Formats: sequence, structure tokens, C-alpha cells
Amino acid sequence: MTIADFQCKLRYGWIGLLGLLAWLDSSQAQDPLDRHTAGNRLTYLDEPCDPYYVGQSFPKLITPQWVGEQGVEAVVTLAIDDMRDPAHYEAYLRPILDRLKEIDGRAAVSIMTNQVDPNDEQVSRWIREGVTIDVHTIDHPCPCLQDSNFEQSRKTYNDCVDLMFEIPDNRPTTFRMPCCDSLNTPSPRFWSEIFNRKTANGHFLHGDSSVFQVFTPDDPELPADSLRNEDGRLRFDKYIPFPSFANTIRNYPYPYVIDGVCWEFPCMVPSDWQAQSLHQPNNPLTVEDMKVALDLTVVKKGMMNLVFHPHGWIRNDQMVELIDYAVEKYGKKVKFLTFAEVTERLNQNLLSGTPLRDEQGRENPNRLLDLNEDGYLDVVQAEPPVTRIWNATDQTWMETPTPFQLGRAMLKKTAMNWEYSSSYVNRVDRFGVVGPDHDVVVSSLSRTDPSVGRQLYRFQDSQWQIDATLQSFPLTKSSTKGDEVLPGPIARGIFRDVDGDGQCEWLQQEKQTVVVYGVREHQWKDLGYAIPDAWRLFPSDWRLTDSGLRFIDLNQDGQEDVVASDGSRFGAWLFDSPETGWARLLRKGQRSDEGAIPPVARGGRNNGAWFQKDTLWVQNEDTARLPDLVDRVTFSDLLVSQDTEKKNQGLPLPRDSEAGLKSIRVALGFEVELVAADPLIADPVAFDWGPDGRLWVAEMSDYPLGVDGQGQPGGRVRVLKDTDGDGQYDHSTIFADNLPYPTGVKVWRDRILISTAPDLLVAKDADGDGRADSIEPLFRGFAEGNQQHRVNGLRYGLDHRLYLANGDSGGHVTSTVTGESMGIGGRDLWVHPDTGAMGTTSGQTQFGRNRDDWQHWFGGNNSNPMWHYVIEDHYLARNPHVNYP
Ligand SMILES: [Zn+2]
Repeated sequence: MTIADFQCKLRYGWIGLLGLLAWLDSSQAQDPLDRHTAGNRLTYLDEPCDPYYVGQSFPKLITPQWVGEQGVEAVVTLAIDDMRDPAHYEAYLRPILDRLKEIDGRAAVSIMTNQVDPNDEQVSRWIREGVTIDVHTIDHPCPCLQDSNFEQSRKTYNDCVDLMFEIPDNRPTTFRMPCCDSLNTPSPRFWSEIFNRKTANGHFLHGDSSVFQVFTPDDPELPADSLRNEDGRLRFDKYIPFPSFANTIRNYPYPYVIDGVCWEFPCMVPSDWQAQSLHQPNNPLTVEDMKVALDLTVVKKGMMNLVFHPHGWIRNDQMVELIDYAVEKYGKKVKFLTFAEVTERLNQNLLSGTPLRDEQGRENPNRLLDLNEDGYLDVVQAEPPVTRIWNATDQTWMETPTPFQLGRAMLKKTAMNWEYSSSYVNRVDRFGVVGPDHDVVVSSLSRTDPSVGRQLYRFQDSQWQIDATLQSFPLTKSSTKGDEVLPGPIARGIFRDVDGDGQCEWLQQEKQTVVVYGVREHQWKDLGYAIPDAWRLFPSDWRLTDSGLRFIDLNQDGQEDVVASDGSRFGAWLFDSPETGWARLLRKGQRSDEGAIPPVARGGRNNGAWFQKDTLWVQNEDTARLPDLVDRVTFSDLLVSQDTEKKNQGLPLPRDSEAGLKSIRVALGFEVELVAADPLIADPVAFDWGPDGRLWVAEMSDYPLGVDGQGQPGGRVRVLKDTDGDGQYDHSTIFADNLPYPTGVKVWRDRILISTAPDLLVAKDADGDGRADSIEPLFRGFAEGNQQHRVNGLRYGLDHRLYLANGDSGGHVTSTVTGESMGIGGRDLWVHPDTGAMGTTSGQTQFGRNRDDWQHWFGGNNSNPMWHYVIEDHYLARNPHVNYP
């Protein structure tokens, strides 16, 4: 059996079970941002560097929150790349700069530069016009991290930063990673180990613009018709340069903070390179799509950062056309700014004048989080000590005091290599979601009297209050004691909802174990399980940045699984239950073992790992020779445990019923409950209820090669009973067995119909013991073909007929009641069990022909989830002049 067959069987089974659900949206599967919903909506504050954590469900930071100018709703930054030759750039840019100056006298363009003479006259003329000269590395390496030479990568960045600071009156603020629009060049390792530090000359930047943002139809706020081309292709996804391009976020056109000290200004898809690669240079369709991206940015009140080049991929008059469009359509609503201006406005109007980095380049602790769950980010600041809540109705900020400490206070005092430590490791403050109302809480020290020790503050009634109900919080007892040698008040734990109940547990590093505390009956209790194999939350040396531990929901059951990997060892465990924790080992071993997970950290430092598209990706100086410049392992590969791998030749582990239930997502208003699971049933593909509430289930246990691998039939029909009336079935009887690949079951008066090619059987339980006493063919002659393509269905029509899906195999069918025969090639069919009558009808359905309340019939096949069979055969057949398919 191949994996494809197995998955096909799973899918086949679920379609049977979910037959009553109107809609199952597979496109919702594992949006990476769902990691940050419910109990884990704040964990991004306390995770190792992840440049891709935002997305559609993440709280917005709309332009009116930070731009500081009445009437401005969206911002455009034009950032041209690769500058070495100012004369060439002047020739290309001049019409663009002049057009921008017509708006308000400023030439708001940022030039991402590799090398330039700091005293070049053209450069200083540009700066007087409003242009900023920003950073793109000295020698443009693609990828920047390569040749197993980390210091070389650091140098090309640092030297470029220093050079741009040498330009008189220049305000370099922002970096762009070379080739970020065409290759997987950005890496968390870059932000964690290079960007977050200073150059030897003491320079540093405030922002980056390397991550690509894609608008998709998943965002209900966007007009759906603007997200597809006329041929049905996704308007923006079509520009993604190759399937494994992982440098993207979706439906989040706003600035966001990476690792505490870097503003990310995401670039809009398409860049001019992506566009010329798809449909030739200078294509007018590119400009049309950029205009639509601008329209959608205005809808979202966001920010659009455009990547372009003077390399013949887009003409300067096309850029001017886009500016004309923005000005004519939106006027003052859309503002053109440089990266320096954006950074300045964020500092002044969002962060009370306190930038993300202080004048020494250290972190100013500004926490951006949605305190009141209104979908907009709020700000919690230490300096000045205010908490600012965005009032979305009035479009204003309201302030309340911040009574606790934020940041890395003790490290500042010790002054030891502060810049070598990532912003999340040595924090005083830890944010979480706790309590029945899912309030935001923070564990920290009092601002005015730190000697009181660690307290839990709760955000309630628009202000911070010391939490009186949770005084048993572990850290209130022993904040500075213990075996760990750690500087004073640093929080040795994090909040995280590991069991998926909507509120956080508290995970605390104690000696070599991470103990998990949870709220039970208003008290914090040790839950009795720990992170496996002594993997640490934080590196043992507090000057390091990464222990290699990550939480991620690998099997999509709503609970946090553990993936851990460093230079010497690795492991992955599934969260099993709130009683047993991470008890299900997937794999573990030493670095050199087969099946090793790529190193997430090494030497206590961030090694460039992130999660996206159900995959763990790693990009660093050692992965540059691998395909697409990355090392990677998919979640489905991780879910194959080493033991199971040996036993099952690579098949993924099945989910248990609880996990399976949690993994099902349905549209608003629908609910899925578990009514039966194994061992009561196995391999279900179809079911039907009898008038007595019993559930009849067809089980295709012989799929695909028979129970003996040689075609021996082994399908069954079971009947389930709920003997104690609690709504869950608890008793199961095999009604009929040894059936060849049964596909459908239907209760009909006192009989049971079973579709099992070549027959449609009728069976009867004469003595009421739940077992069939007679089984007879009612119709014969259905072709047997591929087991996934056999007659199935038995849906009741408003005309009192039973309808069947052809299955694609056709056949020449005979009614045993009337002796009548008919061919069913290319047609679905109906039967009447009492009279033995039958007929064909329009449509050819592979599996699952169903109707709505108006007798409109629908069918589908493997590749097409749903067709509507608009006109029934019997209408068409009345007109002999119509030739229908
Ligand atoms: Zn470039």
C-alpha cells in the first residue's frame, strides 16, 4: 500500500462521515497564524526570533494608529534596490522623483544601496530632495548566509551599515536582504545574530523590508473579485517564484516587530523581478496588479512597500503611472514616505517617542499586543510607563499607567555582552492569557517597589490590576531562589497554552526540567508533566540566544507539540493528554543519526529555523548548497515516528479520535460531535440512521487489495446502538460481513440496502438479533473497476426514489424484481427498491451524490469537490432535437 492509497482511503472515509456537513474548507488547514489564536495569541512575545509570525488573524496596526496625520489611511514606500552607480539611478529615478515632488515637494524614495562614495554629489542632492540611502549589503551575496562562513555575512552587512552612516545628513534606518524576492535568502539567524547587534563603529538599523506579503481570497475584508484574474488564477499567488519559496506572510500589510528591536516593513507581491519572471519585463499587467494591491492596501488601511530596480524589469514611466493612479484615486488618503519617515512616525505617534532601540542600540521594551481583543494592536511601554489602548471607533489612543517593569533590566546593570542575547531570553515581563474571560496577564515586578517580588497583573476594565485571585502563582513564592544561576528578576518561565483549553499554562525552568503549572480551581498547580529529555526553555548560559526548543502543533489537534534540536541531539514529541503531557515520542537521537531533525539552534544560538506551510525550514550559511537554499522537514515526515516507520514502512501515525475531532474545522454555525469511534467501528465510509436511532455503518476494511492482499472480500456493515441514551453509541453488532468493498448503506422500511459492486443488496434481520438473516441481490451488474470508483450513494430523493452515484465504472444493470436491464455508462442512476424500477439520470459522480432541499443534485470526483447537475436527463429526453452529452 502506498501513502497515496492510504491517504485516499482516509479521505474516502471522512467524506462518508462528513456527508451531512454542507461545507468543509480544506484551505483553512494550518494557517501558521492559528498558532497565535486563543490561549496562544500572545506567545509571539516570548518566542525565539520568527520573522513570519503575523498574518490575517493577527491584530492589525493600521496606518491611522501611527502616521500622525489626519486623513491619511495608507502609506506607500518606494524602495529601489542594488545601487552602486548614482548616475544610472538618477537617470532612471528622475521622472519618479519629480512626480513625487509634485505632491508635496518631497522626493520620498529609499534607495537600498550596496556601495557608493559617501561624498558623491548626486547622493547629497538626492538627500536634500528627501531621498534616504538605505542598506543592501556591500557585495550583494545571494544568499547572504553562505559558504559556511558566518563572519563573512556579518561583515557585508556591517560594512554596508557603516558606509551608509558615513554619508552626510543621511538617515539610514532600514535593510533589505539581497534576492529576498526571488530566493529563500532571509533567515531568523540573520535577525537574531546580526541585525540585533551593533557594528564595530556602533551603528545599527531600526527596520527591515525583506519579507513578502501576499493578498489572498482568505481575507473576508477584501473584495473577492479583485483577488483572482479572469482566468481564475490567484492574482498575487501567481507571482510566487517557486513552490518552496518560504519568505512570505499573508494578508498582513502592516509594519510589525521582529525579535523586539526590528520593524519589519513587508514588501508587496509582486516585485518587478517577480513580475518580469512571470510574464516578461515591463508588462502592463504588472502595473495593473500593483494598482489592485494598492486598492487592497487602502481597504486594509495598511502599508505598501514596493521593490523595484532600474534593471529593465519595470519602466520608470510605469512607476509614475502607479503614482498618478494613487494620487488621482486617493488624494491625501495615500501618503508616500521613506523608510526613515515611517520609522520616525512610528516612534513619535505610536511609541510615545521611544524607539524600539535606544541610542545605544539596546532594546527599549515596547510590547505591541491586543489587550482588549478588538483586533487592533495596543502598546505597553516601560518608558514612559504608559499603556496605550487604541480606540477603533474614535481612532484615538487612550492611556493608562503601566505599573510593572518591562525589559532586560538586570542585563543592563551587568552590562555584559547585552547585545549577544536575544530579546526574549532575559526578560522581566512575561505575557499570557489566563482566566475564564481570557484576560491578558503579565508576570513581572512592581515598577515602584521591586522588593515586593514577582506579581501577576491582569488587564481588566481598561487598566492593569494586581491579580488577587491567583496568589498561588509559582513565581510569587521563589523568584530569586533555586539552583539556576540567573541574574535576579529575570522570568525563568513563559506562558503558553499547551493543552489547548484556551488559557495559558506557566512553564518554568527549574534545574534541568521545565515544570508545567496550570490553573485548577483558581489555584496554580504543578500538572505533573515536564518537557521531555531535559530540553530547556532558555539556553543555560543567559548570554546565549536559543536552546533549540520550539512549540508547534504538528498534528493540528489544538495542543502544542515539542520539536527540539541543537548541534548534538534532537527530539520530537506529541502532546498526548493534559494528564500525561508530551508522552508520545515521534523521534529522538544524536546529530549523526539517520532521521535527525535539522538543528534549530547550535552553540546556544539561533540557527535560522522557522515554521511555515506545515514545514520546519532552516536557512543559514550551511544550507546554501541545498535545494532552494534551505534544509527542511515536513510535519507529515515528523509525524512518522521512528518505531512506526519501521513497522509501517513510512506511513504516518493515525490520530486518536479526540485529536481527529479537534482537527476538523467547520464554517460558523456548524458543530462536529463524536458519536462513535473504534473499536465500535473501523474503516467507515458511509452511514445511515434508522427510525429507531440506530446507526448503520458501511466499513471498507478490505480496501484496497482485499483482507489477504489478494482480493479476498472483507467489508462489513455494522449497526450501532446507544443503550444508555447519552447520545454516544456504545454497542456494536456486525450485521453483514465478507462484502466486497461496500460503499453505501441505507435503511429502507424493515430492510437494509448495501451498495457493493457488482450488486446492490437487500438484507433483512428477521429475528431482531442485529445480524442479517437473508441477503439477496436487488440489482446486479455494476462494474467492479478500481475500488475507489464503484457504485455508491443511496440518497433519498424528493420523488421517493433512491439515487446512486455511478462511481465511474458504469456497468449493465439488471433488476432482479422486473428482469429489466439498462446500461449506465456516463450516468448516475435511481432505483425504487419496492418495485424494482430504475433509470439513469444526469451526472457522473465518483463518490457522494447529494441533493439540497429543492431536489437540486450535486456530485463530484477526486479533483472536483462539487458539481451541480443543472438539468435532469428526463427533461432533456423529452426533446428529440436536443443532443445532450
Ligand atoms: Zn538586490
